Amino acid sequence: MINWKSHPSFDGHEDVVFVGGEAQGFAGIVAIHSTAIGPAAGGCRIWDYDSADDALTDALRLSRGMTYKNAMADLPLGGGKAVIYRINTDRVDAFQKFGDAVEKLNGRYITAEDVGASVADMRAIARSTSYVAGIPKEAGQAGGDPSPMTALGVFVSIKALLGGSVQGRTVAVQGVGAVGYNLCKLLADEGAKLIIADVNQTNLHRAQALGAEIAPVDQIHAAGADLYSPCALGAGLNTRTIPELGAKFVCGAANNQLETEDDGARLVERGITYAPDYVVNAGGIINVSAEYLGEAADVVEGRVRAIAPRLLLVLESAKSKGLTPHQAADAIVRERLAAARK
Ligand code: NAD
Repeated sequence: MINWKSHPSFDGHEDVVFVGGEAQGFAGIVAIHSTAIGPAAGGCRIWDYDSADDALTDALRLSRGMTYKNAMADLPLGGGKAVIYRINTDRVDAFQKFGDAVEKLNGRYITAEDVGASVADMRAIARSTSYVAGIPKEAGQAGGDPSPMTALGVFVSIKALLGGSVQGRTVAVQGVGAVGYNLCKLLADEGAKLIIADVNQTNLHRAQALGAEIAPVDQIHAAGADLYSPCALGAGLNTRTIPELGAKFVCGAANNQLETEDDGARLVERGITYAPDYVVNAGGIINVSAEYLGEAADVVEGRVRAIAPRLLLVLESAKSKGLTPHQAADAIVRERLAAARK
């Protein structure tokens, strides 16, 4: 058994539960970072990690990120995340069993979609537990695939960064999956020029049909653009890519974009404005939260659009305090968590 309390990414996690096993046909981890503000909410990622330790590292980093994202978005939720790193049985059966494990946590963790998971997977989980969101609801009720709302939150943030309009501006999008594609549609509809890259040819060609230019996967960050939008996986902003970045703004949906804390300072040194990932990619969890709390669909869009002014406040705070944007966002969240713990 891995000792998660001594793991470098532990960061005070309240609990980590190893779920599944040989007999269950799947293996995964549920990480609960904080329930100070409310039940720990965060999606379930399905990924083929090189080792169980890599899966744990990802779960811990993503889970902590959810605490910060949910608190920043003013949601009544704490932070948690699940990763499933092996499925060797029928998929529906595996997710139903994962649902049993979520149910046993008695509402301390609420799951939803993340990379690799689908609405069908959430339906399978819902056979075993009610602590799941991301399932289409009746007309008028919030719910369903969170990706369009995540894309909207990133889109309004991009507009705010580019002075209110994307007309005629060039945006380079890395990863045109569920979020990236929806983002490309919003950008194209308002007259932005798109440069895209994706390792998945089907997704690439679907987005290319919006009139996008294609860049090589290992060069998209360096594309000459007004703004670079990482919408694939994390850690894409690092010592290798930052010196090569072609845009003066970075704003995308991917979680944990900075490989290390120092990369935030490297971006500032290069005069690049970085929109902290968890500030701008909260649209999906705002949707999930409304679904889980049984709220009406029409409250969601207003909350997602409020991400743009919130981002500008974080950037102002960074400037006035001499912090990187990420540090300024973290400081705001830490204050909120301290107040909740009192
Ligand atoms: P997705 O799996 O639907 O899309 C990701 C896309 O990135 C895929 O098309 C994949 O082929 C591509 N990709 C992977 N590696 C790549 C690489 N090296 N270069 C270029 N493309 C690559 O996932 P998604 O739901 O669109 O999520 C995208 C990112 O946004 C993830 O980091 C996710 O954690 C984050 N996020 C998603 C949501 C949501 O609502 N789905 C919410 C918040 C954050």
